Amino acid sequence: MFLVGLTGGIASGKSTVSAALRELGCAVIDADVVARQVVQPDSPAYRLIVQHFGPEILLESGEIDREKLGSIIFSIPEKRRLLNSLTHPEIHKAMLKQILTFFLRGYRYVILDVPLLFETRRLTRFLKHTVVVYCDPATQLSRLMQRDGLTQEQAEMRVGAQMPLNEKRGLASHVIENSGGREDTHRQVLRLHTQLEDSLDFLLVRALAVTLATGLGGLVLFTLKQLVS
Ligand code: ADP
Repeated sequence: MFLVGLTGGIASGKSTVSAALRELGCAVIDADVVARQVVQPDSPAYRLIVQHFGPEILLESGEIDREKLGSIIFSIPEKRRLLNSLTHPEIHKAMLKQILTFFLRGYRYVILDVPLLFETRRLTRFLKHTVVVYCDPATQLSRLMQRDGLTQEQAEMRVGAQMPLNEKRGLASHVIENSGGREDTHRQVLRLHTQLEDSLDFLLVRALAVTLATGLGGLVLFTLKQLVS
């Protein structure tokens, strides 16, 4: 098995590409969904967050007030680091569990849909390929304004707060150019899918797993023989 990172900038088309890959039958793990799951009430990360940030960051329902927490960590970098240190281990554990499940189900590769892939850089060393969904700045701005009902100024602020898409494009091993129409993007997704399906990179990990399993099996047999003799 091998891992593929998928990322982009706000409204560059990452969700569109991710949905197309899912439709083609790919195993996709959405880091945003995992991040929301691990802070559900009574999970270990939830308890740690309440312990460190106090019950005032909770909604009446008992769930974490993501907006309130977001504004705290936005203005105090130290608090952002604290929150990351509480949630990241849980997010990574949950993602690893899902990756293992896909591996056991026979998937050759798993796509990790991670918005901040190049900003945090924690996962990049585990990835065989990185894919950036790119579109030109004017298209990105107009799609963002339309999708989220923002003024140009609001949209520019959101785009400006992110790592420039151009920079991400330079870091990726594969770029999907999404400035044109949907059909053009879909053709590129199909090409990427074929490349991933044809790749033999999965063989190494599978061979290692078989070797390990055979070695472990041999060890168990040997121990059993020793015990009964
Ligand atoms: P992201 O997940 O990167 O934030 P989305 O996939 O949600 O971006 O795309 C942003 C908006 O642009 C959405 O409303 C989507 O439907 C639209 N969109 C994406 N790709 C195209 C395209 N090639 N042509 C026209 N609209 C598109």
